Amino acid sequence: MQNLDIKNISRIIKLLKKEVKQFENPIATEIGEKTRSPFMVLVSCLLSLRTMDKVTGPVSKKLFEIADTPEKIAKMPLKKLQKIIKPVNFYITKSKRIKNISKTLIKEYGGKVPCDFNELVKFKGVGRKTANIVMTYGFFKKDYIAVDTHLHRIPNRLGWVKTKNPHKTEEELKKIVPKKYWQDLNDIFVAHGQNICVPISPFCSKCYINKYCPRIGVAKSR
Ligand code: SF4
Repeated sequence: MQNLDIKNISRIIKLLKKEVKQFENPIATEIGEKTRSPFMVLVSCLLSLRTMDKVTGPVSKKLFEIADTPEKIAKMPLKKLQKIIKPVNFYITKSKRIKNISKTLIKEYGGKVPCDFNELVKFKGVGRKTANIVMTYGFFKKDYIAVDTHLHRIPNRLGWVKTKNPHKTEEELKKIVPKKYWQDLNDIFVAHGQNICVPISPFCSKCYINKYCPRIGVAKSR
């Protein structure tokens, strides 16, 4: 199948890299690049669940100006934490999770986020996606692919995978995408998925990779 040709996968990723330069970085990448702090990447990722980046970004910034370590968040009164993060969805549940994780990090991990995927998923509220994001954008590891809703939807649209859930997509992508691209994959597909290949009525005429997409068929080449 043409779309699974490895050269096409590389071409598509390169074209998407060009396309997404015009958009803002997804929040986890931005925080990872700016702070080099796995803890801040973890917290911003927890805040971002079911919340738009344009809301999560300012809330994360405000929180980290006051408390940017597990110790500071553990000491902060719960009500104060809730007041700061109130704009994000499910802020009450998220405030309790962030506080509990901070306390556990202090008690059991010497106040540091473990650089270990299997340890990360033991925390309540931390699933594969969040753990993969922390490994990729908090610790800058190259062996992980953080599959979120965009990185699940778009490879299915492109015909790269035929999967029913993000975990299966992660497994399949690891088989077909050259490893040198894994670290950037979430970034690129989140930006593309938020701005062009949106869930409903994607902007296919503006899409840099439309000639490779079965949804469009053969279109103008770039
Ligand atoms: S052509 Fe449309 S459906 Fe295909 S990847 Fe681009 S935006 Fe998404």
